[in-house]
Amino acid sequence: MTTIATTNPATGEAERTFDAMTDEEVDRRIARAAEAFASYRTTGFAQRAEWMHAAAGILDAERGRIGAMLTTEMGKTLKAAEAEAAKCAAACRFYADHAAGFLADRRPADAKEVGADDAYVRYEPLGPVLAVMPWNFPLWQVVRFAAPGLMAGNVGLLKHASNVPQTALFLEDLFRRAGFPDGVFQTLLIGSSAVERVLRDPRVKAATLTGSEPAGRSVASIAGDEVKPTVLELGGSDPFVVMPSADIGAAARTAAESRCLNNGQSCISAKRFIVDAACADEFERLFVEHMRAQKVGDPMEESTDVGPLVSERGRADVEELVADAVDKGAQVLCGGERPGGPGWYYPPTVLSGVTPEMRMYHEEVFGPVASLFRVGGIEEAIGLANATGFGLGANAWTRDDAERERFVRELDAGQVFVNGKTTSYPQLPFGGTKRSGYGRELSEEGARAFCNAKTVWVG
Ligand code: NAP
Repeated sequence: MTTIATTNPATGEAERTFDAMTDEEVDRRIARAAEAFASYRTTGFAQRAEWMHAAAGILDAERGRIGAMLTTEMGKTLKAAEAEAAKCAAACRFYADHAAGFLADRRPADAKEVGADDAYVRYEPLGPVLAVMPWNFPLWQVVRFAAPGLMAGNVGLLKHASNVPQTALFLEDLFRRAGFPDGVFQTLLIGSSAVERVLRDPRVKAATLTGSEPAGRSVASIAGDEVKPTVLELGGSDPFVVMPSADIGAAARTAAESRCLNNGQSCISAKRFIVDAACADEFERLFVEHMRAQKVGDPMEESTDVGPLVSERGRADVEELVADAVDKGAQVLCGGERPGGPGWYYPPTVLSGVTPEMRMYHEEVFGPVASLFRVGGIEEAIGLANATGFGLGANAWTRDDAERERFVRELDAGQVFVNGKTTSYPQLPFGGTKRSGYGRELSEEGARAFCNAKTVWVG
């Protein structure tokens, strides 16, 4: 049975434990969600926007307290946690201001062409949506669903990761204090084994999951059995390709930032660095320098770049992948050894000589560990970049127009960032291809993800 608890990754100490909700309590909450939906769906965009702006105001006003809570629960640096709260506030404002436009009735055809006086598409909310969410961006992943979802008129049931219960409870409190009616956004404190029961409840109409591939597969198959729509945001092993025409200094600096983002635990961190042989020596030297320069330490300290990994298991998983690669012949260019003392720290690490026999070649490494590959030209670079089951983001560094066009066309990923690192923006759609999932969050696509696009024909 899952323990629902806050355990501080910087010390390894359990700080607070919570009882999982009983089936009866979960049923009461689902009933409240269904009841709330019946009236919430009739509220207008202006009213919802007022509440969403209030949520943004709370996130801004309480940024310090929220940041400390995130850092204590999952170990990201305090400055990153505060930035996450600010990003969530901006996303709430974005949807408050744009949802009405994204979800306005749409007239894709001249009514006369279809023999009608009027013909249009109306975007109607589906009802209670179950959101199964991960701990790594514990506020952002939820707001990324909730801001567009609630603006569209849906109501949310959050099953958050079991190691971030305080953040989970805060999110329910946030939307309630912002003015959203009772039952519009609720947290279910349950372990993953209780998800199936919720998902099969006929009052729950859809699900969104951000997390690992096994979790996604399980939720998608149950939802498929129930014929309920899902959006899946799963893992990634993003390529970061560097060509000789690129600004190598900027590429190397950005590469280290991307790999160490969120202590190395981000789905859209670049994880595989694929460098043309003509610029590989220079890139390797600078990249290793930047990785070594990252300051590992107490996540509460302003000067810290990389805090601890989320859990003892999380660090052991990273160590096992590194040990497997090294045993099979990979070279460690920096890092690779855990420091002594309390907390689940792991240093920024660069490996070269990673081959298909090694697990790291195929699996996502959820820690600050980079694989560095040398290739002989763009053909080989694109081939290696796509030689993965994942397809979340992809990064390409080049100042050559023809190369840029090839990367945009041929990299098989949900997003391609040229001369930058993959980042999510409320303004742009976000999601993956292949085993990184399906569906899109954010932007107009995200607002419509949990809507019935109802065709209306009026004769
Ligand atoms: P995880 O173990 O899959 O957990 C994510 C959520 O799913 C948690 O709430 C977890 O609950 C729940 N869960 C786990 N197994 C489940 C199952 N069989 N049925 C139903 N729910 C289940 O993933 P994680 O370790 O927290 O997060 C890391 C993964 O998320 C990485 O692969 C990362 O790349 C991916 N991720 C993807 C994105 C994206 O946007 N594509 C963003 C962030 C993270 P418990 O905590 O109770 O187990």
